[in-house]
Amino acid sequence: MKISDSKPIDEQRLVGIPVSPGIAIGPAFVIDQHGVPVPEYAVPAGQVDKELKRFNAAVAKTQKQLSQLRQKAEALPAGAADEISLLLEAYKGMLSSARLVGGVESLIQNERINAEAAIHRQITAIAASFAAMDDVYLAARVADVRGVGERLIRNLLQQQYNPFADAPENSILIAEEITPADTALMNPERVAGFAAVLGGAEGHAAIMARALGLPAALGVTAMISGIANGDTVIIDGGQGLIIVRPEPATLQHYRQEAAKQARETRRLKSLRDVPAVTSDGVPVTLQANLELPREAESALEAGASGIGLLRTEFMFMNRATLPDEDEQFDVLRQLVQAMDGRPLTVRTLDVGGEKLATALGDAVGESVNPALGLRAIRLGLREPKLLETQLAAILRAAALGPVRILVPMVSSVAQMRQLREHVMQVERRLHRRGLKTATAIPPIGAMIEIPGAALAADAFAKVCDFFAIGSNDLTQYTLAIDRGDERVADLYDPFHPAVLRLIQFTIAAAWRANISVSLCGEMAGDPRAVPLLLGLGLREFSMAPSRLPLVKQEIRATSMPQAVAFAESIMARSDEADIKLLLDRGVEPMKR
Ligand code: PEP
Ligand code: MG
Repeated sequence: MKISDSKPIDEQRLVGIPVSPGIAIGPAFVIDQHGVPVPEYAVPAGQVDKELKRFNAAVAKTQKQLSQLRQKAEALPAGAADEISLLLEAYKGMLSSARLVGGVESLIQNERINAEAAIHRQITAIAASFAAMDDVYLAARVADVRGVGERLIRNLLQQQYNPFADAPENSILIAEEITPADTALMNPERVAGFAAVLGGAEGHAAIMARALGLPAALGVTAMISGIANGDTVIIDGGQGLIIVRPEPATLQHYRQEAAKQARETRRLKSLRDVPAVTSDGVPVTLQANLELPREAESALEAGASGIGLLRTEFMFMNRATLPDEDEQFDVLRQLVQAMDGRPLTVRTLDVGGEKLATALGDAVGESVNPALGLRAIRLGLREPKLLETQLAAILRAAALGPVRILVPMVSSVAQMRQLREHVMQVERRLHRRGLKTATAIPPIGAMIEIPGAALAADAFAKVCDFFAIGSNDLTQYTLAIDRGDERVADLYDPFHPAVLRLIQFTIAAAWRANISVSLCGEMAGDPRAVPLLLGLGLREFSMAPSRLPLVKQEIRATSMPQAVAFAESIMARSDEADIKLLLDRGVEPMKR
């Protein structure tokens, strides 16, 4: 990264990807990342064994450092510690992978080059093959591969590395790239926020920023030059905005904004213990979606009455091997215990499509249309061992507290029947092994997120104990809009009349069959959707913990007659623009 010598006073605004909301103001601490210098030289035939030993010693040293780092991470806030541990495990996995270690060894042997150069070549090749796969998760792994490679080379060169050692109090870290392992070294007490040229919203650095509560923006390409150490920097994490050397008026505006956000957070926190009821007393269930176990704490802090959706993919990501039953049980056991009697809805593995787990590699395979291919429950039924290992862990956890099983991407009633058979079989097997399960089979529900399942909701209601509407995928599949493709993002509209009709139909089918129905897509956390969904008959919402207080506030300000009238007026519209207008206006003009 080029660092300018002069300090012009002109204000500069740079835009990146908003990955972690909040406002941070402080002096820039520019991390010097000229990369590790990689010497390359030939190794005489007689020295090859010695060079191999040197490489193996560096691998062992790196393994040891990662274990130390893991211990260090344990001092971080609970969630952040979980996240970094998963990552460090992934690093350790890479360090024992044949592709990396074997590849470097054969380069040393066959090309007779030094270990540093061999690592550099091998890492570059692995990173290039990951990047070429055009997959967000693998793209995020490129940073991990590079991180491991740099660490190995540093160890061979005997270089010590702590990029933040000299960061002043309250500083804003500015870097070309913040590796996930770097984030483990960050002390949230000293660091106010960070911004990097590289990185996207899916990566670990972003997840860690959120876990540590640090405002952050990534992918701030324009930051490549022009920020000097000590420059005042503002990060508006919610907007992905970086303001360098702000004018006094800008600084004042953001200081006020930061104070306002702090007040709003305190005010919303005070809603934690007030009941989620409409203004005319109809109770509503508000639950949380979890992507990582660490979020359980925030879910409880936000006043969630349970977990409406536990995305279990985290257990399978960033690792070379599959988690066994005990490992999965252990994670679920901790969550059941943390929820302390509140229900935990565990969704079976939803990988494939845009959510690819490296550990599954060959099982998922390539697909011309990954979103329509072998994924989620389709994969589970095709790979019964994978499914049954997870079901066994879930059933064992269900002995410790209320648990529900949620099945993703269901498109046919037969899949639910087969799933239930697997559950029964696994339960019998657990009993034979002398293991405890719940007294009754946990409720088994379907994600209604494929238009065909929504249209056949009456049939599904006969084989399901509950429904959870996945509005994210329901929108994707109804409108044929890839939810992860920014080029068609303007067409992605969960309030499109077609999607709303499918949601309405699903809720009505659940009511007819007298089973519970929740909505756990992003729409559930949008306060504008509250009166509409209430009016359509929804009484259970599940959302990111941070959205919960806002939604509760909206519920408490809405009466059921208003909600019904609002839903009717929206459902009478077929023009998306009209619907948007009504949503933006809300029920306010109809007198609360
Ligand atoms: C959904 O599709 O709406 C949903 C909740 O699941 P995910 O976002 O994990 O696909
Ligand atoms: Mg989904």
